[in-house]
Amino acid sequence: MDPEHISQDLKAVLLTEEEIQSKILELAAAVERDYDGMELLLVGVLKGAVMVMADFARALTRHAEMDWVAYSSYGSGTRSSGVVRILKDLDTDITGRNVLIVEDIIDTGLTLSWLVANLRSRGAASVEICTLLRKPEAAKMAVSVKYVGFDIPDEFVVGYGLDHAERYRNLRCVGTLAPHVYSD
Ligand code: 5GP
Ligand code: MG
Ligand code: MG
Repeated sequence: MDPEHISQDLKAVLLTEEEIQSKILELAAAVERDYDGMELLLVGVLKGAVMVMADFARALTRHAEMDWVAYSSYGSGTRSSGVVRILKDLDTDITGRNVLIVEDIIDTGLTLSWLVANLRSRGAASVEICTLLRKPEAAKMAVSVKYVGFDIPDEFVVGYGLDHAERYRNLRCVGTLAPHVYSD
């Protein structure tokens, strides 16, 4: 196979494109029900949430504004440092707004807990979280996560926005990486 072909780097596919897309539709239906008659601002966490946001926002049949934040905690490693540095802040004044944070994955939840507290302190009417993936450790988080796509095992996954050293974000599925990727 072409050595540049992305899928040969996968050990296993955890979630197929079809499974992800049907879950996104479910999440969108739940959000439409819960936010009926309310305005809604989606806040995507760059860069990982780009794919979830693109599909989730288009699965909604209602109006929803979008804004983005970026902060660093991981670098190219695989463990959360808990140290948060804002790389890009919101463009929107969220005073009185209903904010729904859109995330790719919650592992320790350290960075997300910080973000929720930060957005609440700016006077948002409500701040909730929607994540496609959640790892077991996230259950210890102080803040509750209202919308969860899939609870997954404690393994490092890539694809559908999730990277390893900035690669694999453009995979349509979510999977684990073959050992040769780590040793190369
Ligand atoms: P947390 O602060 O919850 O430990 O980590 C949050 C961020 O770490 C996620 O938004 C994601 O960028 C990254 N992360 C956590 N687990 C994984 C994983 O299994 N794969 C990848 N690619 N990134 C992860
Ligand atoms: Mg993320
Ligand atoms: Mg990353």
